[in-house]
Amino acid sequence: MSEVKNVVIVGSGPAGYTAAIYAARAQLSPVLYEGSVTAGGALMNTTEVENFPGFTDGVMGPDLMDSMRKQAERFGTTLITDDILEMDLKSSVKVLKDGSGNVVKSKSVILAMGSAYKEIGLKNEKRLSGRGVSWCATCDGFFFRDQEIAVVGGGDSAIEEATFLTRFASKVVLIHRRDSLRASKIMAERAFANPKIEFLWNHEVIDVLGEEKVSSLALRNTTTGVESKRDFTGLFVAIGHLPRNELVLDQVSVDSEGYVKVKDNTTHTNVTGVFACGDLVDHRYRQAITAAGSGCQAALDAERFLSHE
Ligand code: NAP
Repeated sequence: MSEVKNVVIVGSGPAGYTAAIYAARAQLSPVLYEGSVTAGGALMNTTEVENFPGFTDGVMGPDLMDSMRKQAERFGTTLITDDILEMDLKSSVKVLKDGSGNVVKSKSVILAMGSAYKEIGLKNEKRLSGRGVSWCATCDGFFFRDQEIAVVGGGDSAIEEATFLTRFASKVVLIHRRDSLRASKIMAERAFANPKIEFLWNHEVIDVLGEEKVSSLALRNTTTGVESKRDFTGLFVAIGHLPRNELVLDQVSVDSEGYVKVKDNTTHTNVTGVFACGDLVDHRYRQAITAAGSGCQAALDAERFLSHE
């Protein structure tokens, strides 16, 4: 690993793998760090993806990511199943250190670290995580067979989680702080038509209760302020995401919400030779297809940058 690489890609969602496919086809011999435990990104935790163009009958999220990974590998990407723990981006040769202690040097870096699930911030949320509190229905839904569980949120993620959980749960109560959903119409209508989903409007969860595992939720009506308690054995949190910027926060410019800033309609960050794409940059669209598109842009930007070096 002592030679200086052309491009190192950090992150393995649709953005990272697409950047790798393009960079590899441009003969740049990219190295992609896909993470030690989270390879494939957020789509690994979804079920059927119905809106990725080219799949008439939909495709399972993990299958889509596996195909992208194999495609990146086929053209010569070096895939490394490890995390990058440190980056020094300021010099013309960027220096990255991975979880095994290897140091990688590169002329350019593509940041594609994606985003992480947001927590509500309840007193007992962390303590009961894995004991009834979850951020991933596809990972944990199976454990809630014939039980009554709650989902918090009003966006597409919450609807997707709630709908998926009806496969197992006897009832899913979707708790939303307002009286209308943010989710897309098609997904909302599907949920409204699902007899196992109940909507609890204008309510917020103020704590999750239970000793060894979740037994109930403390709730507050957001219009009247009235507090109540209701029994649930599970709480699925689906209230959005936060950009995974911790490796670069003090090195590249980020906006007020922590998303990495890129120049104009490119993937150039404020640091020469450093490009950013996918959910790390985008809080507006956040789709697999837009992430893949921006990964393509990042590889093209890196290729042009390297050719003018
Ligand atoms: P989102 O659209 O930002 O929705 C977050 C939801 O959580 C909102 O309803 C918000 O309430 C609520 N919320 C935020 N903070 C909260 C808090 N502290 N307490 C209680 N509720 C809180 O996030 P998302 O659902 O993860 O979706 C993100 C993007 O991914 C969207 O563009 C979405 O279309 C896309 N996505 C697409 C699919 C699909 O097409 N299959 C699936 C999943 C996600 P308010 O509405 O009051 O702000």
